Amino acid sequence: MVKTIFEPSKELPVIAEPDVVVVGGGPAGYVAAVAAARNGAETLLVERYGYLGGMATGTQVIYIDLMADSEKQIIFGIPQEVIERSILLGGVTWRKGTINPNIDAEIHKFVANEMVERSGVKMLLHTWAVNSIVEDDTVKGVITESKSGRQAILAKTVVDATGDGDIAAFSGAEYTEEVLPITVMNRVGGVDIDRVNRFRTENPETYTRFLEQLYKMNVLIPPSVTRKWRIGSNWRPTGRENVIYCHWASFIGCDAIKAEDLTYCEIEGRKKIMKALDFFTKNVPGFEKAYLLDVCPQIGTRRSRLITGEYVLTIDDLKHQTRFMDNIATCPVSNSTTDVYQIPYRCLIPKGIDNLLVAGRCISTDAESQVVTREIGPCMAMGQAAGSAAALSVKKGLTPRSLLENVSLLQDVLVNQGVNLEPTS
Ligand SMILES: Cc1cc2nc3c(=O)[nH]c(=O)nc-3n(C[C@H](O)[C@H](O)[C@H](O)COP(=O)(O)OP(=O)(O)OC[C@H]3O[C@@H](n4cnc5c(N)ncnc54)[C@H](O)[C@@H]3O)c2cc1C
Repeated sequence: MVKTIFEPSKELPVIAEPDVVVVGGGPAGYVAAVAAARNGAETLLVERYGYLGGMATGTQVIYIDLMADSEKQIIFGIPQEVIERSILLGGVTWRKGTINPNIDAEIHKFVANEMVERSGVKMLLHTWAVNSIVEDDTVKGVITESKSGRQAILAKTVVDATGDGDIAAFSGAEYTEEVLPITVMNRVGGVDIDRVNRFRTENPETYTRFLEQLYKMNVLIPPSVTRKWRIGSNWRPTGRENVIYCHWASFIGCDAIKAEDLTYCEIEGRKKIMKALDFFTKNVPGFEKAYLLDVCPQIGTRRSRLITGEYVLTIDDLKHQTRFMDNIATCPVSNSTTDVYQIPYRCLIPKGIDNLLVAGRCISTDAESQVVTREIGPCMAMGQAAGSAAALSVKKGLTPRSLLENVSLLQDVLVNQGVNLEPTS
């Protein structure tokens, strides 16, 4: 049995009472906050780190996947504004063979701040939400910890965009957990990318042999293992001259909501990265002058908790392109087909808990469909829906769950704000 101590209760200062508090400033969260504020809600965004963008910035996941299918863009609305503004600031390159953008992480952080500020959202950075305030299965707010101490925020509606479903779990929501590999990402500078690509094309067998050596050294994980989880190729260009980002340090079987596992990945990840860099610089032409630019500040979590909602989206829904009356985001199934799927509003509503919406990689799906719904394009799209729903609930004096009976109100708001809900049911 785990040894325990008693923590005495104490009074906490209530530092804010907004209409909507969004916890987590990743792709789903900052878009949700912008949507809530634009729809008239006084909104507070709480983020544990000092920047917005979540893994799209802090983990260098710069490729904004599944904005588009193989032929055309599907997701518009606020995500499209993010891309347009990032293009204007010189922060976008296009992933070869797709219509999806890479957004430079620093430009993305700046654009996210700008959109959040301009929409009137208040931000509280360097602040962890560590508990929720719940009465009769109704969420009333969150408890935070920061350099300012332990504090409370009361809100009419809470959006959990922590990626890990922290607030939903603190509130007693049901969830499933099926871990996926965790990756410690890094960037390398000084790479002559054209030369490496030429070497790869002209010497495919030698390059493959090099990778096999790295698998044997237990540095990289072979594609036979990683492909089913859609772990990207071991490095890609960032769009900045001579700089690449790398998936060199992945770990199978570690749990992203266990501090011990995260600690292990961070420490062992740096070892793998140094070994891979040493190998590439010594063996692969184009890497001779390469140097470690940085190891990303934020660890790469593909999946942790999946919150059980009023509906659980399944892989069959994606395969059969099921149409839902409460669709709040139409998204591409992949970037190599023209199939689309719909996300029902019910996937954002945790079962049995009121005044709470979830958005992002932890919404109510089965494990197989989460491989698709967790991509950044869909996370931003569902963020816009969650933020709009939170604001609308407050405006109409409804709970997010009872808004379900009037879901066409939400759908009208979304369509008027540039969201694609086609094909309609
Ligand atoms: C290695 C890797 C590669 C990937 N490659 C791609 C790719 O190429 N293209 C693609 O589209 N997707 C990719 N993904 C998936 C994608 O990055 C994520 O699924 C997506 O970022 C999820 O967005 P989110 O907003 O739900 O969560 P996150 O991006 O995880 O954001 C959650 C935010 O909440 C904050 N937070 C968490 N807990 C708390 C708390 N208790 N209090 C306060 N703040 C909190 C975090 O700091 C973070 O800012 C990849 C993922 C990984 C790990």
